[in-house]
Amino acid sequence: MRVAVLSLSSCTGCQYVLLSLEEYFYTLIGENAVSYAPFLLDQKELPEVDLLLLEGTVRNGDDFRRLREARQRAEKLVALGTCACFGGVPGLADMVSEERMLRMRYGEGATFEQAPPGVKRLLPVDAYVSVDAFLPGCPPGEELLKDFLKLALSGNLPSRMGATVCSECKVTASPPSRDGFRRLLSAVPEDGKCLLEQGFICMGPLTRDGCGALCPSSFGVPCGGCRGPCDEVLLPPFQDPCLETLRRLARATGLSPKAVGEQAKDPAHSFFKYCLAEPLLRRRRPGGTARFLYRLGE
Ligand code: SF4
Ligand code: SF4
Ligand code: SF4
Repeated sequence: MRVAVLSLSSCTGCQYVLLSLEEYFYTLIGENAVSYAPFLLDQKELPEVDLLLLEGTVRNGDDFRRLREARQRAEKLVALGTCACFGGVPGLADMVSEERMLRMRYGEGATFEQAPPGVKRLLPVDAYVSVDAFLPGCPPGEELLKDFLKLALSGNLPSRMGATVCSECKVTASPPSRDGFRRLLSAVPEDGKCLLEQGFICMGPLTRDGCGALCPSSFGVPCGGCRGPCDEVLLPPFQDPCLETLRRLARATGLSPKAVGEQAKDPAHSFFKYCLAEPLLRRRRPGGTARFLYRLGE
């Protein structure tokens, strides 16, 4: 199978997980003709491939053109990492106005005419082209990536999974704290007990499984939601990540959904820091998505 790895605007962390697979990845290169991977191979042009692993987001016109070209040359396209799947951390830039973002990046007095042609607002890659499979994670863990690659290279692209991080979590349940939310800076969680029930904002009930509940089970810290919303939250009948986040956290903490919303001082960073670019979240803002986009120099 001919394989390529392409990176759009990103921190390149997902590619480094590929490298960290070491022997496994090098065997894979040998067996599967990895023909394009700019971080590893000196190959200038993306050739036609059977499988493309795509990392990052569309932040400017160059990203968009490369994505469109890549889609035309790839039989199957995989969104690798949470940036590609849900916009990831770069989506948080949407919290400031376009003008402010421009000034922060290019200095006072900068205008859109001086900026590279691009998108004023960020969207996941499947807002632009069709995506055949998603492997979220910031970055996806090594085992997760290996399992995914084994399936993908045998011609079976894994479908999305429906369970949540809670289903993999090893902590034990305890009576919910009804005293409101606590922050890690001001309180120390009790080992082995559900963090959400102790009052820490843990996104486990909303976040898709696959990481083995790494943060709560291995490090005793809340899940930040880096694998993105689980399918249940995105698909009917819920389809409203904002509302469903409040509902699920309310159920686990014994608070009302309204109280959960009020107590989270910074909802975007608390709940949606990895998926603020997700169209289902954005559609519910006044004006929707369309006003954030302008044509990419077409
Ligand atoms: S998903 Fe995370 S690790 Fe991967 S490119 Fe985006 S920010 Fe970096
Ligand atoms: S809410 Fe967090 S700590 Fe509790 S079971 Fe779910 S993932 Fe584990
Ligand atoms: S527990 Fe949550 S934040 Fe931690 S790796 Fe898993 S999905 Fe990401």
